Amino acid sequence: MQQLNHFVDGEYVDGTSGRFTEVFNPATGEAQLKIQLAGKDEVDAIVEKAAIAQQAWARVNPQRRARVFMKFGQLINENMDRLAEAISREHGKTLPDARGDVQRGLEVVEVCMGAPAMLKGEFTDNAGPDIDIYAMRQPLGVVAGITPFNFPAMIPLWKMSPAIAAGNAMILKPSERAPTCAFLLAELLHEAGLPKGVLQVVNGDKEAVDALLDNETIQAVGFVGSTPIAQYIYGRAATNGKRAQCFGGAKNHMVIMPDADIDKAADALLGAGFGAAGERCMAISVAVPVGKETADKLVEKLAPRIEALKVGPYTAGDDVDYGPVITAAAKDRIEGLIASGVEQGATLVTDGRDLKLQGYEGGFYVGPTMFDNVTPDMEIYKEEIFGPVLSQVRVETYEEALQLVMDNEYGNGTAIYTADGDTARDYASRVNVGMVGINFPIPVPLSYYSFGGWKKSAFGDLNQYGSDAFRFYTKTKTVTSRWYSGIKDGHELNFKALD
Ligand code: NAD
Repeated sequence: MQQLNHFVDGEYVDGTSGRFTEVFNPATGEAQLKIQLAGKDEVDAIVEKAAIAQQAWARVNPQRRARVFMKFGQLINENMDRLAEAISREHGKTLPDARGDVQRGLEVVEVCMGAPAMLKGEFTDNAGPDIDIYAMRQPLGVVAGITPFNFPAMIPLWKMSPAIAAGNAMILKPSERAPTCAFLLAELLHEAGLPKGVLQVVNGDKEAVDALLDNETIQAVGFVGSTPIAQYIYGRAATNGKRAQCFGGAKNHMVIMPDADIDKAADALLGAGFGAAGERCMAISVAVPVGKETADKLVEKLAPRIEALKVGPYTAGDDVDYGPVITAAAKDRIEGLIASGVEQGATLVTDGRDLKLQGYEGGFYVGPTMFDNVTPDMEIYKEEIFGPVLSQVRVETYEEALQLVMDNEYGNGTAIYTADGDTARDYASRVNVGMVGINFPIPVPLSYYSFGGWKKSAFGDLNQYGSDAFRFYTKTKTVTSRWYSGIKDGHELNFKALD
């Protein structure tokens, strides 16, 4: 079996911990790659190397740093298919979806080509007699990025690009379940001209993460993953005096008003609920139709569309709408949650359990599942299922729908489908969720805005990418400067004239 080592100072090096794990191909269920799991000593040594590289990198002028990202963007485009294949092979998502994963990361790289503008400071001329004040944005030093399995290109790019463009060095620890793409990206960034040591990529699990959190040289931690781990990492990083932004899980609702175009809403739910096997933090997992008639119509429109969805391996090309879930454990958990929904009294509209594909019997496939008459006390409503399972919660009024979303502990994304501008505007204004779609199911902001949830979907300050990322990865230094001009009387006169 192939082995993936750590990427340190621009080359692959063997780990020394003696700990390994296997990466599976979810489409077949077979282990396909062995990876090292870094221990504390290895992590500490890698951080030390990065600290040396960072000092020189911070002195490279911002425009030259940006040029590395221009070349990087070009190389990502040239390698799009190779990157997408690496994603699909480890994650299981379809190739068009994997290309989308790379594309949404690439868009953040494109914003980093404008890093000099993002890093400009502030200046006040004549803040007092002979006094000027200026504020500059300086890099933090060495920072850590810890990323989840579900976007193996996009989220590593969201982490590494602004951090490095701002003059930091980054230790990236990708998910041990889908690591390869992060390493390919690191290779390309070096090919684009990044000096060795500025980006180190280590494979690891909790031990490597804890080593990063406790390492005194690490100045900031950017995390994306599930809520319990986000909360843990935020707490430990903050206790150790680090800046931290930790993005967690989600339960995203779509409200469907009686005046909505139900066909469009059903099509949107199909993609947003089942695309990438529901393994997206912005997936819609709860449909909230307002009124009995809307709910009945939605089930009527959705059920046949859901049943027509084709599940299979990414190698089957256009014949497949979505692929397997990430691991056998994830499949068991999702099927267990479906069973709990049945036990707790929800109406099973389509049942995706026990899906077996000929020739792929070992794959981790879950068929598309929809529940109607779900209530907020059920496990399938409370848990982030992170699988191809859509729950319909029926409500009578708009206010009830809004309250349901407001009461949910997560606040990543939400959408409303309506023909009424006033209702849409009211919803966007009042809902306590970070990203809102109006007749738009997955409102991931474009790269020149920024991405971040509210409530238990994010811990810490500032969003990912956009100008927020440049704020997160820099600290402000403010200088008050006086150069005596020798014309003090003139100043006094001027001030007197103002009295
Ligand atoms: P995860 O929390 O299991 O893992 C994320 C990272 O944390 C991995 O690198 C992993 O190695 C590390 N990790 C896992 N357990 C740890 C522990 N006990 N101590 C220290 N580190 C640990 O998440 P996942 O399953 O890879 O990803 C799916 C989750 O990520 C979902 O909950 C999804 O909603 C969320 N997600 C959120 C966003 C967002 O921006 N809010 C984006 C994508 C995914």
